[in-house]
Amino acid sequence: MMSGESSVAKSLEGKVALITGGASGIGESTTRVFVEHGATVLVADIQDELGQSLCKQLGSPETVSYTHCDVKSESDVQNAVDTAVSRYGKLDIMFNNAGIAGEAEPRLIASNLHNFKRVFDVNVLGGFLGAKHAARVMIPAMKGCILFTASIVSKICMGLSHAYTTSKHAVVGLTENLAVELGEYGIRVNCISPYAIVTPLFQKTSGVSKKEKVEGILSAAGVLKGAILEPSDVAQAALFLASDDAKYLNGVNLPVDGGYSLNNQTWKAGFS
Ligand code: NAD
Repeated sequence: MMSGESSVAKSLEGKVALITGGASGIGESTTRVFVEHGATVLVADIQDELGQSLCKQLGSPETVSYTHCDVKSESDVQNAVDTAVSRYGKLDIMFNNAGIAGEAEPRLIASNLHNFKRVFDVNVLGGFLGAKHAARVMIPAMKGCILFTASIVSKICMGLSHAYTTSKHAVVGLTENLAVELGEYGIRVNCISPYAIVTPLFQKTSGVSKKEKVEGILSAAGVLKGAILEPSDVAQAALFLASDDAKYLNGVNLPVDGGYSLNNQTWKAGFS
């Protein structure tokens, strides 16, 4: 290897990816990891300044660039997909990652309709539109990879709002339905379900602003000790699912939770 050459195995070399919610948190980390592994990335978000400065930091516009895209708007999503194709020639990977937590309202009778619809518009409709327009360009190519960020609340109840929890179950249903429909065209569709990570989204939900404090609480509650879940752990899962190493994985909801969703020992409390 020549000196200065990266030792990173570039498993996404030659691939073009579009990442929604790519300006912050899990999306930002995935943008970094995808670029590092050879992908050309179009970051789509509504936080324009943050998205643009991330792209500038990571490379030239030939490698990574930004487009404004509100995933609730079909014309924005259509435009983002068309921009990826016109700027970079094709679309191999569509990562529907943008999401919001909405308001904290775990009690049914305290819930409000506006919040429910707003969460569904971003988390479900947004992902649906992303998949629809990605498939539009992937079907003629007879290949592609569509990913979603679901959540561990798609597997277990964590006391979060009905709106958020239901939206993430819907993402899993969408993943599975699409995996069957699009498999015919060689397009794989999978989702990732992380446990809690300290990102701006989670900090808003938890109401605790100090990162170390939240990490301490999450780590104490987690099953896997000695590790703290970070955005890069989800990015690495996305990297694997997006790469050809996962060529036969289709319709999977991959937990990145250190085993948290397997654990329920509350019954022991009655015996202590
Ligand atoms: P984040 O707030 O850091 O990032 C979310 C990004 O989505 C932001 O950049 C935001 O601007 C963007 N976004 C929001 N609404 C949008 C819209 N209408 N159009 C386009 N972009 C929009 O939060 P995060 O934790 O990185 O969240 C990313 C995904 O991970 C979400 O789908 C979230 O539900 C999911 N998730 C997060 C956690 C966690 O604990 N942080 C756990 C499980 C799943």
